[in-house]
Amino acid sequence: MARVTHPASASALLRHVRTGRASSRAELVSLTGASRNTVSARVDQLIAAGLLEEGGRGWSTGGRPPTLLRFNSRAGCVLAVDLGVTSVDVAVTDLSAQILATVGHAIDIADGPGPVLAEVDRLAQKVLAEAGLTPAEVCAVGVGVPGPVEFSTGRPVHPPIMPGWHDHPIPAAFERYDCPVYADNDVNVMALGEMGVAGSVEDVLVVKVGTGIGCGIIVEGRVYRGAQGSAGDIGHIGVASPGGQPVICRCGNENCLEALAGGGALLRDALAAGLPVTTTRQVVELAAQGDGPAVELVRSAGRTIGAVLASLVNFFNPHRIVMTGGVAQAGAPLLAGIREAVYGRSLPLAARRLDITVSDAPDLSGRRGAALMAIEGFLDEDSIDSAMAR
Ligand SMILES: [Zn+2]
Repeated sequence: MARVTHPASASALLRHVRTGRASSRAELVSLTGASRNTVSARVDQLIAAGLLEEGGRGWSTGGRPPTLLRFNSRAGCVLAVDLGVTSVDVAVTDLSAQILATVGHAIDIADGPGPVLAEVDRLAQKVLAEAGLTPAEVCAVGVGVPGPVEFSTGRPVHPPIMPGWHDHPIPAAFERYDCPVYADNDVNVMALGEMGVAGSVEDVLVVKVGTGIGCGIIVEGRVYRGAQGSAGDIGHIGVASPGGQPVICRCGNENCLEALAGGGALLRDALAAGLPVTTTRQVVELAAQGDGPAVELVRSAGRTIGAVLASLVNFFNPHRIVMTGGVAQAGAPLLAGIREAVYGRSLPLAARRLDITVSDAPDLSGRRGAALMAIEGFLDEDSIDSAMAR
């Protein structure tokens, strides 16, 4: 992903402007410590490349008021693809991740990469047409996938719930756009979406509770993937079964977090308790409406998840934890269970200023994150520097 190797490189200057940290040459000079001449020359190149625009005058601090700089987010567009197990959403966004057009519907990921990616391609052409854009204007593509992905190649690696997708080169489906394509697992992508356009320098855990449970790890504002890219796979951490009875997980082990507190477990326990439901979504809706037994089930799942998060808090000491995914839409009861366990079991120093929240828009963070992944990739050091060289 984006690397800033030089504090006053063109991409670093551009990043300061597009994240709102600087809006004039003078501010760039004071932020980077580079000389006025260096900053001005690179800003001129970025203006010539259409990525920065000049407009208006700022406040003077003595002398001539500075000319304001702003990022031209319409210098291009990106495609954002949020692939789920049972649905796909495709959006086209500008270079600030503002959605210009979006479309989505139900799919079955188990149909395999051929049919599913053909459908994604069709939807991508549809959103481009809707936004009045052409394929040539697409600068990059970002794809979130519900399984482990080798980030450097965009190939899924033995994804447990995506039969037929192992080692399939996802970027090849977007060859017509002749631009970089980035694919990553949906949890990392959602984590980026939660960080937003302005980015962040915080340490954050973004926990997705859906059918599975996964955790996006943000270290100083960047996604941390680990040695093999599987960092944050917390769904298969062993926990104590609240009922005392061992539960077998789809991975074959006993008492995995996901087997006890994921969406499937929630539905299983709701059916066992005699609730009138057939899907996890219905359990979540009942809990969100305040139905007593459903609230207690979600709260109990929250406590089980919270027990694992308490250990992660002691180990990682994040600023924030953000809950997302289908089950997170239950809101208050899930948060209550998680907070109870985390604040009860984390060390005081780690938990004192810890903020635990539910995502503002769990349904949007996948698309927003895929767009941000594409934008960061497009505007990183190498591509900006090579654009400058042209
Ligand atoms: Zn497991």
